[in-house]
Amino acid sequence: MGNGAKAQQKRERNAEKGAAKGSKSQSKVNEAAKSIICSTCRQSFFITTRAPALEEHAQNKHSKTMADCFPGVKA
Ligand SMILES: [Zn+2]
Repeated sequence: MGNGAKAQQKRERNAEKGAAKGSKSQSKVNEAAKSIICSTCRQSFFITTRAPALEEHAQNKHSKTMADCFPGVKA
């Protein structure tokens, strides 16, 4: 029983390590998901950001149009 418990503990520890690694790569994924970048101020936006929000950013922050700040994004 003692050995079994030890093995179980080891497995759990390894699982924890894996989870930590997983959360790190998860944040990398989130970073990659932010792939709309304002060409004026380099602020990054989630790829899922809607055009109106980008338009608003461009107008409010820079008095520009969305096409000026986010040339790759279709309205
Ligand atoms: Zn900007």
